[in-house]
Amino acid sequence: MKPDYERPVIQKLNAGLLNKFGSRSLQQPVKEIEGVPVSSLMEQHGSPLFVLSERTIRQTYRRALRAFTMRYPKVQFAWSYKTNYLDAICNIFHQEGSWAEVVSGFEYQKAIRNGVPGNLILFNGPDKSTEDLRLAVDNRSLIHLDHFDELYTLIEMLEGTGKRARVAIRVNMDTGVYPQWDRFGFNYESGEAWNAIMKIVTQPNLELEGLHCHIGTYMLTPSAYATAAQKLCQLMQTTAGKTGVRVKYLDMGGGFCSSNTLKGTYLQGADVIPSFDDYAEAIVSSIMQFGFRPEELPLLILETGRALIDEAGYLLGTVLASKRLSDGRRSTILDIGVNILFTSFWYNHRISPAQEFTQHNEEMALYGPLCMNIDCIRESVSLPLLKKGDRVVVHEVGAYNMTQWMQFITLRPAVVLIDTSGSVQTIRKKETLESITSQEIVPDHLKACKL
Ligand SMILES: *Cc1c(COP(=O)(O)O)cnc(C)c1O
Repeated sequence: MKPDYERPVIQKLNAGLLNKFGSRSLQQPVKEIEGVPVSSLMEQHGSPLFVLSERTIRQTYRRALRAFTMRYPKVQFAWSYKTNYLDAICNIFHQEGSWAEVVSGFEYQKAIRNGVPGNLILFNGPDKSTEDLRLAVDNRSLIHLDHFDELYTLIEMLEGTGKRARVAIRVNMDTGVYPQWDRFGFNYESGEAWNAIMKIVTQPNLELEGLHCHIGTYMLTPSAYATAAQKLCQLMQTTAGKTGVRVKYLDMGGGFCSSNTLKGTYLQGADVIPSFDDYAEAIVSSIMQFGFRPEELPLLILETGRALIDEAGYLLGTVLASKRLSDGRRSTILDIGVNILFTSFWYNHRISPAQEFTQHNEEMALYGPLCMNIDCIRESVSLPLLKKGDRVVVHEVGAYNMTQWMQFITLRPAVVLIDTSGSVQTIRKKETLESITSQEIVPDHLKACKL
């Protein structure tokens, strides 16, 4: 076979390169995931392909839970549906004992459909319709109020029904991390949270059961959680002292980092992120220092999302072409676009070749297949040369990609789960022209087109 010919280019050397032939690769090919060959996964299920590891999900969950149960007697996790709401994934978390944390009517319905008892669903978010609220009340779900309009809607809806609603308020606060997430919930410092509590405790139809916060996402500073926990404890104590109402739980939300590397950071994510123990220590010591009597200790709820699943997800793809940009830089085009790898806007995802490669690396841009300039997976990454047909593995894509993905000019790929026995199970089928167009309706006069 005639080797591919590529016209040589003259390129200015960048400082730091070892020699004029480029730098030696420190990478290893990733040829299999949990013992299943990448090549057979792609031959069977197509390219691109999302792969999730059930074993990693369960191990990560248990590691996170243990960090808290080692330090605190009453801990409950609730799976953040928007992080990944494929039913199979949710059910892994529910089997592990997680409640459901939902932020929309759609997610609420999904949790019910997955068999989660209504009283174990936390209903967050600024958009709950009257119908959603009615359903949540009937199911005894925990309604986390976001604003006064929602509180008034709920009060009005309950009037004359004789029904009672279980509620908590979402509290936002200054935790020393900026910009402050103050658009959700009631503010602590301004006294708004306290006003909401006073309003709730005077309503015969409302039971104030908890206090909630979710202070941000990918939080690099555990001390922010210590501050948040302290402020919620303060609010809990004041409520008990002044109204006699003792809330049963403090929900510290999510926001723990996964080991992905944020864009614009110098060090690798894995080297800088706090551990589950760091977060647990910050939260629990804050609660413990507050001086509750043992029987008064609130249930501690956590809604960790990305940190529980990012690592368990892989995206497999294929090289479509390799070419030179006008400035001589190499560009490699993959069949993975930002439409299915939404988190590439945020993270510098680690990417590995899935086969043996030559020992020399080159700085290159990785583009997706979309006909759009923004479709760039990595602006600059040092990788071995990749040629048409080569396969790649993108690491740590389990969070948010399978919920935020967009159907744009092409069909979304299949998602498979490697279960704990090593079998590969399809958990979401590849989309088809039919599955997409089944939602469309063509008016009669537009049914025929003769050209
Ligand atoms: C998104 C979300 C979570 C999960 O956040 P992560 O940053 O993925 O841990 C938890 N709670 C609420 C209310 C959320 O909106």
